[in-house]
Amino acid sequence: MNVSVKTPREIALMREAGKNLALAHEYVEKNISPGMSTMDVNELADDYIRSRGCVPNFLNYEGFPATACVSLNDEVVHGIPKSDRKLMEGDIVSIDMGLIYEGYHSDAARTYGVGHISREAELLIERTRNSFFEGIRYARAGRHLHDISRAIAGYASHYHYGVVRDLTGHGIGTHLHEDPPIPNNFKLTPGIKLLPGMTLAIEPMITLGTWRVVWLDDDWTVVTADGSLSAHYENTVLITDGEPEILTLIN
Ligand code: MG
Repeated sequence: MNVSVKTPREIALMREAGKNLALAHEYVEKNISPGMSTMDVNELADDYIRSRGCVPNFLNYEGFPATACVSLNDEVVHGIPKSDRKLMEGDIVSIDMGLIYEGYHSDAARTYGVGHISREAELLIERTRNSFFEGIRYARAGRHLHDISRAIAGYASHYHYGVVRDLTGHGIGTHLHEDPPIPNNFKLTPGIKLLPGMTLAIEPMITLGTWRVVWLDDDWTVVTADGSLSAHYENTVLITDGEPEILTLIN
């Protein structure tokens, strides 16, 4: 495993990459509404990222055809935007996107309710976000990677949610996906020791039902095996000597 430790110069660039992505998410959140297509959401994201002088990093990544992954309801991740797929009142929509600023990548995801959503959907979104914050309590130098995984899994399991295992978080830097993979489920092994300067995309994917997922025939869209709702929350995080720094959130 080759986990990169960023220099102060690299960290400064990753902060900018993160800030631009946080702003892109804010912009998309403010502008989504029922009746819009998932392609409209993609266009909001693409326009905003380019307006900041950044490059979308999902577009053409291993052939992915869009800037944002837009996943509805039981779609966990990697939903391909389509002009005939509408956001309907009561849906939940997960938007995962990233960008490159001066050669450095950022990656973050959010799930939103479209109009009025059920209480159980609301709680799923809130607790998926909470599970990330439980996880990053252990995103500290000297801790081990799987302390983060265990904290996420422990929090989600308390609510009897499914924690997706077939997809993980990842290191990030000059590449979108770097070592180490970051599982969200319980691991017996400790994983690597965390060092200041590591940058990690931590991204719990949590469902109202099973942890099992299925890939659709488009080779991208991942859905829950039982059709249950799924939520996603991700930030790019910097390991420091103290508190972790969340690069893709605006304070
Ligand atoms: Mg990611």
